[in-house]
Amino acid sequence: MTTFDVAKIRSDFPILSRQVNGKPLVYLDNGASSQKPQVVIDAITRAYSQEYANVHRGLHYLSNLATEKYESVRGIVAKFLGVANEDEIILNTGTTEGINLVAYGWAMNVMQPGDEIILSVMEHHANIVPWHFLRERYGIVLKWVDVDVNGDLDPQAVLDAITPKTKLIAVTHLSNVLGTKVDVASIINGAHQKGVPVLVDGSQGAVHMPVNLDELGCDFYAITGHKLCGPSGSGAIFIKQDRMAEMRPFLGGGDMIREVTKDTVTYNDPPMMFEAGTPGIVQTIGLGVALDYMMSIGMDKIAAYEDQITQYAQQQLGALNWLNIQGNSKTKGAIFSFTLSGAAHAHDISTILDKKGIAVRAGQHCAGPLMEHLGINASCRASFAFYNTMQEVDALVDGLNLAHELLS
Ligand code: PLP
Repeated sequence: MTTFDVAKIRSDFPILSRQVNGKPLVYLDNGASSQKPQVVIDAITRAYSQEYANVHRGLHYLSNLATEKYESVRGIVAKFLGVANEDEIILNTGTTEGINLVAYGWAMNVMQPGDEIILSVMEHHANIVPWHFLRERYGIVLKWVDVDVNGDLDPQAVLDAITPKTKLIAVTHLSNVLGTKVDVASIINGAHQKGVPVLVDGSQGAVHMPVNLDELGCDFYAITGHKLCGPSGSGAIFIKQDRMAEMRPFLGGGDMIREVTKDTVTYNDPPMMFEAGTPGIVQTIGLGVALDYMMSIGMDKIAAYEDQITQYAQQQLGALNWLNIQGNSKTKGAIFSFTLSGAAHAHDISTILDKKGIAVRAGQHCAGPLMEHLGINASCRASFAFYNTMQEVDALVDGLNLAHELLS
């Protein structure tokens, strides 16, 4: 067993000691959003109470201080993602904005009607809908690659879908429903041999494992701060310099320009060219503190501890023969989606769990095509974080036994 002081870590998160419905909170909705450690909450309070002004604009003390704090986050994100050149990091509000930037700023600039984008069937809507916009408006063709019965995505199947018209592969690093970790390295290597860029949706992947993008070599990698112990409305996207050079700005406004006249506009250099308007200043400062916090624990230690939780949950949940777990990949991360045999609705299951203080998500998990592929309308999802415990797995099993008893 890896030594991991989960009790100490839990004490960093004030919300974890509260009760819900008269029971200790068992927070298993981390796939939707993670909880925040006190250092992040303190950083937000400090920023607003002592260090706040708009960034990049003023020449006064507070504006310089806020700018310094805000801009330092670019380097923190770069370090977290294993990126040497921090100018390849664009700060934003999260993955949804990041992927939309790639769709509008890059894809619209380099693609022609009839060009193809390859997607896996287990993508989150954030990595589907922006591409549907291109399909609807510009005649871009979406090509889908299925996952197998275990919920694995075969890299070769993705590479086999490449044609001379393929301009992008867009895949998740870790499925927010099945928990599958995708072998993105093989996809990237194979795709690059054929000259096809790869976007990786790192919203879940970067939360659960160490990431080194300079080694991985992908072209785009999007993360979202609120799943990384940071504030909502924070995030970033890594874009390789070569790809940035192919982009045009997406959002226009202050900060992203060099000069504006009545007749002309010239733009700031990247990455500022892609960061228009007043950003989420305090959210981003909070994200920097959150990533420093996670790095101080160590992403390798987090991954190793979560592997233990995953194995234990697989054993305990796997023993419930009326529970249908979706996704049985050998590379499964700490995300478990399931239905009960029979007609029990996911919402009813989650309501029963909620009465026991257990927070899970129920529904489609923003993954319509995957639900269609699985042939289900909805499922419950228990998603673990590094501050969860084996006892919380037991609490989930108890709650599910009760749900089974009441609903069958
Ligand atoms: N991609 C995946 C795999 C996700 O799980 C999520 C959030 O649930 C997103 C994208 C979208 O993230 P956000 O809404 O923070 O932009």
